[in-house]
Amino acid sequence: MTVQGLGKEIGIMDRRQILTAGVSALGILTFLRATEGALAGTFAVVKSEAAWRSRLGSAGYAVLRQHGTERAGSSPLNAEKRAGRFVCAGCDQPLFASSAKFESGTGWPSFITPLPGAVGTTTDSSLGMSRTEVHCRRCGGHLGHVFADGPAPTGLRYCMNGVALRFEPA
Ligand SMILES: [Zn+2]
Repeated sequence: MTVQGLGKEIGIMDRRQILTAGVSALGILTFLRATEGALAGTFAVVKSEAAWRSRLGSAGYAVLRQHGTERAGSSPLNAEKRAGRFVCAGCDQPLFASSAKFESGTGWPSFITPLPGAVGTTTDSSLGMSRTEVHCRRCGGHLGHVFADGPAPTGLRYCMNGVALRFEPA
């Protein structure tokens, strides 16, 4: 092969590589979007909106299914100090151990960590802020947000709506 021919060959390969890379990036983006869509819409527990309203009541429905926030200090779970666990009000999945609860002074039940695999997170860009939204991994119900201003050892503050939780004493 001549030098010129080699150059042309390399040129073709470069264009192919660029094309392949372009297709791959597009493919990955498409895959990610499809995956996000699937994750957003697919949970182990799925109910109709009417069934959720019936189970949760208006206050629970507004938080868990409509990303609402309860009034600070309104949940009796703020003062819950017994040993036990906090489960999802939507599907009963255990979410937080009582040992992970701490008094944040915010008026919302706060935890330093969830139980392993119990919650998922998404980026919430509403209200002109970028926050990390926390939801139940099993039913997708909105629980609250997680902030990086919590106490040791995690440094995290899972700021939860009490109405999204139910306490089960040990
Ligand atoms: Zn749930």
